[in-house]
Amino acid sequence: MIRASAELTNTFALKSIAPYAADLTTLDEARQAIRYAREQGLTLRTLGEGSNVVLLPQVKGLVCRVLNTGVTVIGMDEQYVSIEVGAGKNWHELVSQTLAERWYGLENLALIPGSVGAAPVQNIGAYGVELEEFLESVTVIRADGSVQVLPTSACALGYRDSMFKRHFVATAEPLIIFSVRLRLYRQPRVNLSYTELEKMLVAQSRHSQPTPQEVAKAVIALRQSKLPDPAQFANAGSFFKNPVIDGSVAQRLQRLGVEPYPFQGHFKASAARLIDLSGWKDVRHGALGCWPQQPLVLVNYGGGTAQDLLSFAQQIQRSVQEKFQLELELEPSVVS
Ligand SMILES: Cc1cc2nc3c(=O)[nH]c(=O)nc-3n(C[C@H](O)[C@H](O)[C@H](O)COP(=O)(O)OP(=O)(O)OC[C@H]3O[C@@H](n4cnc5c(N)ncnc54)[C@H](O)[C@@H]3O)c2cc1C
Repeated sequence: MIRASAELTNTFALKSIAPYAADLTTLDEARQAIRYAREQGLTLRTLGEGSNVVLLPQVKGLVCRVLNTGVTVIGMDEQYVSIEVGAGKNWHELVSQTLAERWYGLENLALIPGSVGAAPVQNIGAYGVELEEFLESVTVIRADGSVQVLPTSACALGYRDSMFKRHFVATAEPLIIFSVRLRLYRQPRVNLSYTELEKMLVAQSRHSQPTPQEVAKAVIALRQSKLPDPAQFANAGSFFKNPVIDGSVAQRLQRLGVEPYPFQGHFKASAARLIDLSGWKDVRHGALGCWPQQPLVLVNYGGGTAQDLLSFAQQIQRSVQEKFQLELELEPSVVS
């Protein structure tokens, strides 16, 4: 089960090796891996498909990947269906499967790369929807091998954030997400709160209310028109979070040409706009660059290292700090 000297895959195409790695399909295998790490004095990290990480060349300890992909119906009534999904299931495959089953809600989250197990880690979100809306619980395996079912309220979900994202940095203890329980609608209930999506669907649709399948199709088209496909241009999606700011900062930014928008009692500033106005549109330094259609996405055009990437990101952070007195926070986790 445990392999030595394993190359780690990631969508940034960064070369990275871990001294030990393990693929986990059963709870028993997960417990064995935790025991092995404890006995050998190794740290244990869990990665998914590597689409939201910056991997340093040498990652310490034992790196695990959960491979269970089952989708099980736990309960169903007229309105809702609850499903338990293995952490190893590919997220977009799940979205497609739920739509084929006529279970609704995930359509705005179509085509987000990565695994189901990683979805609660940053409370994935897109086009006006966040995972939180559909998450019932997360089943985890703790450092002592015990299995715990955490209700959503215990996950401290926020904007691209959760307690899972901070757990390893804070404790260096293993916490393996093994499965995720979601509650989906059984009747279509489309969310068109994202203006660009609504405009696209209104322009296309002959009837007033688009179907969830049409929403998914539109989301896929929008994403493909803006975001680089990691198979062609290595990237991890948005590299920085949109800063959440208070009213006085929002007013100051407005005077500087940024248009902050209301967000959960505060305001959010578009990190892409801040980067653009700081002079980074279309900028490329060696192998690293800002994606022309979306400067929030940093691209490794070939041969860039984690060091190159982090130093490119730091230069952008410095420019934004100098121009706007705002700190841009990284969205991906740096794994060392
Ligand atoms: C082109 C592109 C577009 C993207 N668009 C979006 C978007 O619209 N919205 C969005 O929210 N994200 C987006 N992302 C980011 C990414 O898709 C998500 O964060 C995704 O959930 C990462 O999944 P992963 O399996 O690749 O996780 P990884 O990158 O492998 O891991 C991410 C984090 O989760 C932890 N983790 C992973 N699996 C487990 C597990 N089983 N147990 C415990 N911890 C675990 C890792 O330790 C790490 O800290 C995009 C990425 C790309 C490349």
